[in-house]
Amino acid sequence: MGKKFLPFALPSIGEEEVKEVRKVLKSGWLTTGKVTERFEELFKEYIGCKFAVATSSCTAALHLSLLAIGVKPQDEVITTPFTFCATANAIEYTGARPVFADIEEETYNISIEEIKKKITEKTVAIIPVDYAGHPAQLKEIMKIAKQNSLYVIEDAAHALGSEYENKKIGSISHITCFSFYPTKNITTAEGGMVTTEEKNLAEKIKILSLHGISRDAWKRYKKEGSWYYEEVLLGYKYNLTDINSAIGIVQLKKIEKFLKIREKYANIYGEKLKDVEEITLPKIKGNVRHSYHLYPVLLNTEKVNRDRFIEDLKKEGIGASVHFIPVHLHPYYRNKYNFKEGDFPVAEKVYKRIVSLPLYPQMKESDIIRVVKSIKKVLKRKK
Ligand SMILES: *Cc1c(COP(=O)(O)O)cnc(C)c1O
Repeated sequence: MGKKFLPFALPSIGEEEVKEVRKVLKSGWLTTGKVTERFEELFKEYIGCKFAVATSSCTAALHLSLLAIGVKPQDEVITTPFTFCATANAIEYTGARPVFADIEEETYNISIEEIKKKITEKTVAIIPVDYAGHPAQLKEIMKIAKQNSLYVIEDAAHALGSEYENKKIGSISHITCFSFYPTKNITTAEGGMVTTEEKNLAEKIKILSLHGISRDAWKRYKKEGSWYYEEVLLGYKYNLTDINSAIGIVQLKKIEKFLKIREKYANIYGEKLKDVEEITLPKIKGNVRHSYHLYPVLLNTEKVNRDRFIEDLKKEGIGASVHFIPVHLHPYYRNKYNFKEGDFPVAEKVYKRIVSLPLYPQMKESDIIRVVKSIKKVLKRKK
């Protein structure tokens, strides 16, 4: 009765973000410049990595990372089917073939055994995804990569702030890509970041992000700059603007606060839902810090219909969602590669049962309790 709808996700934007954006808008320089450079510096400090390059999205970051390591048509890149389609799309852009390796049952991350089965002469890289913010098995993946001379490009769209064996995500794989889409752990509206320890890769990604031009455009317009530039590679228009970066700088200051709230709320969900027999809670495997970008639970679909559960929650004023529709089941991929149901049975089984509950710093503790109560109410009606 008149209860406010609780959306599945909301960004946390305060007055400081508004103030910093205003400053940029009035500064006379709107696109990539000093503010973006500062954002990259601060990001590097937070992650503890050598290089960070800002991009217009995580999708752009993944695309440029693949180009930087020299991926060509005919190559194969192994990734998980249990991800947002952007991960596989970035491979498609290069003309290479996305080769899916099924997931493991505990964390829904790419399975080490399945990766091993998919390596061929044509494999050049592996793109693991840190699903929901739970790091993939990076030690094993880096070992496979080393043995087979492959690159690891990590899709860490969910994993800003996550840690694997006490190291921050972004300091482990050859290249790591982050997203600042509005629902992610921090936002710049749209935006992404690449981190790496390799100078050559960072420089190449930087050049490719702005037309393949060898000098930053904004430096050309400074007094000491000149009008001369060269296009050295076929580049893209994937740069992040100073307007977006101004938001990012403020958001990055808040990341630890955001993560603590996410963890606290995840623990409340865990505590309050652990005895609900129709629900399986997310698990943590190994020595990791989970960012809780998502809080996905599995439903016992013999007792509850997943789609109806989401509809019923909506009627209670609660937004829930599904992450993800396995990529191989999308018509584009089915048609191009003849994928069919049954090709990746674990991803498909999890997909049919999974529901992401709302979890973000803008929620109050009372909202979490409300979600729990609504879940219990909806499940009780089923009996
Ligand atoms: C959101 C997301 C992306 C894409 O991020 P953009 O910044 O929107 O391009 C890629 N991979 C995963 C797993 C995502 O969730």
